[in-house]
Amino acid sequence: MSGKQPSTAPSPISFAEAANRLADLGRELYAHDWVLGTSGNFSVVLEREPLRLAVTATQLDKGLLTPDQILEVDAEAHPVHGTGIPSNETLLHMAVVRACGAGAVLHTHSVWSTILSEAHAASGGLGLENFEMLKGLENVKSHEHHEWIPILENTQDIPALARDVERMIGAHPDLHGFLLRRHGLYTWGQDLAAAKRHIEILEFLLEVAGREHCAGGKGVPHHAEPEALARQLEE
Ligand SMILES: [Zn+2]
Repeated sequence: MSGKQPSTAPSPISFAEAANRLADLGRELYAHDWVLGTSGNFSVVLEREPLRLAVTATQLDKGLLTPDQILEVDAEAHPVHGTGIPSNETLLHMAVVRACGAGAVLHTHSVWSTILSEAHAASGGLGLENFEMLKGLENVKSHEHHEWIPILENTQDIPALARDVERMIGAHPDLHGFLLRRHGLYTWGQDLAAAKRHIEILEFLLEVAGREHCAGGKGVPHHAEPEALARQLEE
C-alpha cells in the first residue's frame, strides 16, 4: 500500500468477524512454522476514530488459536473487550496503522527473517529485486522492482520502537514491511486479505534470499540445463 489512508479503504469489520478471521489466520501461519512457541501477533482495525483494534492476546499457541483469544483494544492498547492481556507489541501495530492507514498488521518470527535480519543488519536493510513474486505486493506492477526491507534494532522498549516505526513509515509510505533484528517480520495491508498476501509474499522472498545467502550468494541454480530440468520433471 502507499501513502496515507486511502479514501477507498474497506469498511471496518465487526469484532466477531475479525476474531474469527484472525484465529483462522493464526493457525494457518503456525502451520508454515512462522509463529512457533507463542511468537507472533496479528491485528485488524475495527474503528479509526477513535482507533480500535482486534489483536491477539499474549502468550498464545497460535496453532490452537480460537476467536475468544482475540481482544479488542482502545487507542492506548487497553483491552475493552475479551479476556487476556494484549500482546506487548500492540503499540507497534498501532504505529503502523497511524503511519500509513493500514487495515491489518501481521507479525511473524520465521527462521529466514531471523537469519537475514542479522546478516543484513549492518546495511540497515535488505533489498529484494527482480522476483516475479514482488508483484504480489500492493502497487508493484513488475518484477523489475526494488523492494527495501528496513531492519531495526530489536529492543524491549516497545514505546520507543513504536515511535521509530511510525516515523520511518511516515517518511517512507511505500514500504511493505520491516524486520526487527534477530526477531522477525512486520507487514500490513489495507485489509486482512492484503496483509495475508504480503506476509506470504515476503516470507517466500525472504526464504529465497536466505537460501541464496546460505549458499554463499550463489543461490539456487538460475541457469539449470533444460535437459536436466526436463529429466527432473519426468521423474
Ligand atoms: Zn515479535
